[in-house]
Order: sequence, then C-alpha cells, then structure tokens
Amino acid sequence: MDVALFSHPKYDLHRMSEGHPECPERTQAILKHFRTTGLLEMVATRESRPVTPEALARTHQPAYLRSLADCAPASGLVPIDADTLLAPGSLQAANLAAGAVEEAVDLVLKGDLKRAFCAGRPPGHHAEFADAMGFCFFNNVAVAARTALAHRDIERVAILDFDVHHGNGTVDIFEKSPEVLVCSSFQHPFYPHRHFDTPGEHLVHTPLPARTGSRAFRRAIERDWIPAVERHRPQLLLVSAGFDAHTRDPLGQFDLTEDDFTWITGLIVSLANDHAAGRIVSTLEGGYHLGALARSAEAHLRALLA
Ligand SMILES: [Zn+2]
Repeated sequence: MDVALFSHPKYDLHRMSEGHPECPERTQAILKHFRTTGLLEMVATRESRPVTPEALARTHQPAYLRSLADCAPASGLVPIDADTLLAPGSLQAANLAAGAVEEAVDLVLKGDLKRAFCAGRPPGHHAEFADAMGFCFFNNVAVAARTALAHRDIERVAILDFDVHHGNGTVDIFEKSPEVLVCSSFQHPFYPHRHFDTPGEHLVHTPLPARTGSRAFRRAIERDWIPAVERHRPQLLLVSAGFDAHTRDPLGQFDLTEDDFTWITGLIVSLANDHAAGRIVSTLEGGYHLGALARSAEAHLRALLA
C-alpha cells in the first residue's frame, strides 16, 4: 500500500487537566471513525516508534530538551504555560508522535511509502526552538523537515500548515533556513500572537479574519501557496494538518467544512505530484470538536489516497 497511517495507543498517556480540549479522545475519535468507515483497511497501519535523540537534537535547543525532561513529573501535572501541562506519560507520547513523522519521512524518501498521515498527539506546530507552548512540546513537522534534510539527496522541503492557528514554532525553527518553505494560513488576530509576520522570502503568512469561509480561504491559499511552492520546488511536502478551522470547532472561528479539507489536501497532492514525486508526510495538529475532527481527518486521508 502506498499510504500509511501512523498511530500508537500510548498517545493516550498524555492527558492534561480534566476537560482540556487537547485530550486522548481526539485521536481515539479519529481511529474509531476510520475503522467504522472502512478507511483503516485502505491504508497500511503502523505503530510509531520513539523519535531518535538525533532527530530531536536537530530540531530543538539541547538545554530546552534537558529542562523538559527535568520537569516531567512522576505523578500529577506540571504546568509549562497556561494551557500546556506535563503529565507523567506526556513525554513518552511526545516522543512517539515525533517518532512517527521521523519514520514516515525515512520510509517515504526510501520509496517504501508514497504518503503518510501521522495521527499523533501531542501536536507540534507551536513548539519553538527553545519553548513549549500552545499544547505543543516537540515540533513534529519540524522534526520531519530536519529528518528529510539529513537525507543526502534532499535540499528543499515545504511545510504547509492549514491549522486555524499560526505555526509560530515552525517559523521560529526555520526563520534562518531558506531551504524550508513555511506556508501558514491562520485566523488573525488570534493566538499565538508571535512570529505571524516574521519576514523572509521562504516564510509565507496568510492571515485571515474570523468567520473566513470556503471561498475566501481557497482564494487566499491559491494566491499565496501555489506560487510559493512553484518557486521553491520542494522535494517533499510536509503538512501541519490542523482541523480547528472547521466551523464547528470550539477554539477556532473559521467557517470551513470537510469539503474544504478535501480541497486543500487535493491541492497539496497535486503540488506534490508536480514537484515532489507525489511525496507527502502529514501530521495532525489541532481540531477540538471530536465529530468534526474525525470527519475532517477522513476527508484529508481520503484525498491523500486519491
Ligand atoms: Zn490550532
């Protein structure tokens, strides 16, 4: 099979405070929905392995990685910022979520897979070089990019981020790395209020107002992303797949639907076919309405399979 789904039951070890929207039920809902819709039988399923220390060290500041490990509690919760907490199993889950994208990139670049969707958590795109924030500890999509660039033949990659929040962590990590094109569409003004206008020819920011719907979203993506990708000619496309731009999402205020996630994934597939031999590795970011998240992830995976 050309397309793989990466998951792991131990993502569930990461549970922050009671009622926190970034909860184990998110990935459980996705997997359950994939099972009941028959999607699970259409993809290769793989259990993720922990990320290698080398891949993490290529992505984050060593002192930050050490301090995170030092903070990890044996019991209870340790707050890292107002809404990001470490539970005893959090770093194990984070290691597995980052390990999924690392392995997916290696398999795709070896030609063993064409595409992968890593339905992991915790998410990653807010995690900066030396800072955990916004439910994120390790920047999974950045680990993917650094892993790809460590391959001999890979000189340029692109990260396409359609989460409703800006990918500040990804921009922070690649601010001085023109070999990584970072395109991020996001609600503005909105969390996280940093890095959303960091200048750079390889940094493409697409701020959009609350209540942005399908037409305006698609117009902006076509205007900003297509020429940027065509200029950059990436050899691998990486996706920060956040589904909190869905109209039912309790955190985001966009008005997108499953159809828009089918559309944007189809666009990414066609860009990958034109520039990157069809190669895509996608990783889950946000999405906090369980039903909308599961159906949007289905739309995304179906379009990756098409
Ligand atoms: Zn988000």
